[in-house]
Amino acid sequence: MMPVMVLCPKEDEIQSEFHLFLSEKETMDLFEEATCARTVGMDGQVVRDRRNFWLVLDVTARLTLTCRRCLEPFEREVRGHIEQRYVATQPSENPPSEEDVLTCDGERLNVAGPLQEALTLAMPVFPLCSNDCGGICSRCGRRVEKPPCPCEEQSEDFGNRLGDQLVK
Ligand SMILES: [Zn+2]
Ligand SMILES: [Zn+2]
Repeated sequence: MMPVMVLCPKEDEIQSEFHLFLSEKETMDLFEEATCARTVGMDGQVVRDRRNFWLVLDVTARLTLTCRRCLEPFEREVRGHIEQRYVATQPSENPPSEEDVLTCDGERLNVAGPLQEALTLAMPVFPLCSNDCGGICSRCGRRVEKPPCPCEEQSEDFGNRLGDQLVK
């Protein structure tokens, strides 16, 4: 994953804001093929307290998802939010022992990790192209626009006719 850098507030500032938009191509370069994100917009704040930096990140992403019922790809916009603490360290210093803290040089933050985490959290667990998606017909294997699948009636007719003939 390539870094996504944002500027930290200067020493005499408490807070800075940033807005970033990643086009489809930039998103692909950034995550390689490991994501379904097409475009990604970010609104963020960085709050500074000496060597500590708090990132507050709001993400809006356009995703290509696969419907769990009909297996067709579809696009959806999702929103995510994440907060992350960074500590400015010198290259010679040991990284902080706390687990959920990232390091930075005090001038810029790499927000690629939190960005990807926010996207992962924003992904729908059970993506559906629409709530009333009819899925795939278990008889004919076609995508059903409106259940029941038209093939069902036909095969029932066929079954009835067959039954009629057997009775005769
Ligand atoms: Zn579907
Ligand atoms: Zn069918």
